[in-house]
Amino acid sequence: MRIVLVGAPGAGKGTQAKFISKHFAIPSISTGDMFRAHLASETKLGMAAKRFMDVGELVPDEVTIDIVRDRLAQPDAANGFLLDGFPRTVPQAEALSKLLAERGTPLDVVLELQVDNDEVVSRLSGRRTCSTCGRVWHLDFDPPREVGKCDVDGGELFQRDDDLPETILRRLDVYAEQTEPLVAYYRDACLLQSIAAHGALEDIAERAIEALEAAPRRT
Ligand SMILES: [Zn+2]
Repeated sequence: MRIVLVGAPGAGKGTQAKFISKHFAIPSISTGDMFRAHLASETKLGMAAKRFMDVGELVPDEVTIDIVRDRLAQPDAANGFLLDGFPRTVPQAEALSKLLAERGTPLDVVLELQVDNDEVVSRLSGRRTCSTCGRVWHLDFDPPREVGKCDVDGGELFQRDDDLPETILRRLDVYAEQTEPLVAYYRDACLLQSIAAHGALEDIAERAIEALEAAPRRT
């Protein structure tokens, strides 16, 4: 099964990627992991990407798609894959379609995790970070024993700017604006399956797997 996973910040994409990857016995592939692997082993592609990252520029799509091509050629991806964080734009989606067409392995499904903005805000704005060890607590789901203090080292907890409601809403807006064309592209290609990503993680996973199982395979 060949899957692309898309979802807003706070949709629990990482957790769902793990569930799906385990269920279908396919690797979950994120661009971040791929870049880190290439940078760590100082490959030609890694060095090509680094030239742009060093000067704070976006890595060009040609380099990213080469890194994706290289990753998909590895044996663990022979029976499929789940791509998380790529593609992000329509040109990247087109490049991916071309690459997969060359390999004769088209995408089966694009799964979109849909979130309710209010729920994301209430979920993320409860996060508190330890100023000493950096561990993240949650006022509702993972509270420390003592209010405002880290259980591990007693460090003071604070709210990161990223976890402030206004920052979260802004990120959700930016995400929606950037992702709408990508989602429309996959909808037009009849690849899109959307599920509601609210409620318990296990329930979301169940909906995700149900939607994926129901999607027609392309090969
Ligand atoms: Zn701590």
